[in-house]
Amino acid sequence: MQREKVKQVLASESGREVLVKGWVRTRRGNKNISFIALNDGSTIDNIQVVADNGSFDAEMMKGVTTGSAIGVRGSLVESQGKGQSVEIIAGEIILYGTADPEKYPLQKKGHSMEFLRDIAHLRFRTNTFGAVMRIRHAMAYAVHHYFNTKGYYHLHTPIITGSDAEGAGEMFSVTTLDLANMPKGKDGKVDFSSDFFGKHTKLTVSGQLEGELGALALGEIYTFGPTFRAENSNTPRHLAEFWMIEPEMAFYDINDNMDLAEDFTRYLIRYALDNCSADLAFLNEMVDKDLLERLRFVADNDFIRTTYTAAVEILEKSDRKWEFPVGWGRDLQAEHERYLVEEHFKRPVILTDYPRDIKAFYMKQNDDGKTVRGMDVLFPRIGEIIGGSQREEVMEKLEERMEEMGIPAEEMWWYLDTRRFGTAPHSGFGLGFERLILFVTGMSNIRDVIPFPRTPRNAEF
Ligand code: ATP
Ligand code: MN
Repeated sequence: MQREKVKQVLASESGREVLVKGWVRTRRGNKNISFIALNDGSTIDNIQVVADNGSFDAEMMKGVTTGSAIGVRGSLVESQGKGQSVEIIAGEIILYGTADPEKYPLQKKGHSMEFLRDIAHLRFRTNTFGAVMRIRHAMAYAVHHYFNTKGYYHLHTPIITGSDAEGAGEMFSVTTLDLANMPKGKDGKVDFSSDFFGKHTKLTVSGQLEGELGALALGEIYTFGPTFRAENSNTPRHLAEFWMIEPEMAFYDINDNMDLAEDFTRYLIRYALDNCSADLAFLNEMVDKDLLERLRFVADNDFIRTTYTAAVEILEKSDRKWEFPVGWGRDLQAEHERYLVEEHFKRPVILTDYPRDIKAFYMKQNDDGKTVRGMDVLFPRIGEIIGGSQREEVMEKLEERMEEMGIPAEEMWWYLDTRRFGTAPHSGFGLGFERLILFVTGMSNIRDVIPFPRTPRNAEF
């Protein structure tokens, strides 16, 4: 007999034999009869299995406890109980694996997120993490679907990089040298010439620079890969290892870039609303009562577009007490971004034209000599969800800026070749995948939207 997934079985007609396999969420009942809630990961909903205890081996039935893995063959009937339309009257039960009730950590419901982080290897078995992981999958699928439909190519940029010019954060080194006995040069610094790549290599902080190489030949590309930042920021919005989606488009200016960022994020949210309704309903009930309303609001309303300079004026005029100072030339902190979005505009906001000194060397310089064509997309509860820009395509300006910022042009010869040969206006941005999942799920800590979070002093699983 063919095993079926609980999701399909729950949506099907009664009056037939079925075989399901999964993990017991709860077992209730009395001496004679058992009601087993079975979950197989295909949906947030459990299927109820009704078993006449006398018809089964007593020893085997003892092992059917919360957390155990079983298979059930039986007849699918209309359910008497409320909350489900069909249930299974068990004809055969196969016990695959027991879970000692004295030791299984998920015996009870309602564990804190902090506790579940300590048992991240088991938290997939909770309703909340099941829902988050299914939504995460759906969002990854929707990302590829969106770009494929628009004719973008998925470009796999390297994870190990020899360039450290991105400057987006502290980097992790990659080496096969003996850490206890690092070769040193005359200057006392580590000599990487005998290292695996013959030079100092690191884990990438962004696929953008390589993405630009692809875009200036293929037209429109996107990357979707892991990125690594050794920043020691213990916040609910930062991970040391996170996934980023970085589209890069030839012949796009900053306005085209904003249009894409807005269309893309609203598409993803609509996709979740249309395709993840059971999981979102659960999260709306259990995690965040405003979730669905917020998602619909963002999907249905245009984003506000204004400049960094205008935003700073708004912040300066507000009578808020800021933890971090506000002023033209200073970077905006999450508290400022969230004020603009949640209290002032009450919409997602795209800020543009940032001071050049707080942005990366590759952003296109405006004629005012002070600002660059960068853009950040700010979301409620999250703050910055996207950072991007139109890129500087003029060789001389780019070289001048690199020199000012102390970025060695000779190491970046391959990047500069795009400006040397057939340069063209182009733009792109990076969407932090986990920040998107935070927004879509209503979860409050980024550690709870990635299967295995990497944060300072935490890489156990
Ligand atoms: P922030 O100011 O929030 O630290 P950033 O300006 O350093 O972010 P970018 O370099 O612009 O970030 O990266 C693009 C996107 O990647 C951000 O908009 C954000 O969504 C995401 N992101 C950046 N750093 C992290 C991190 N440490 N963990 C998770 N996502 C991140
Ligand atoms: Mn940014």
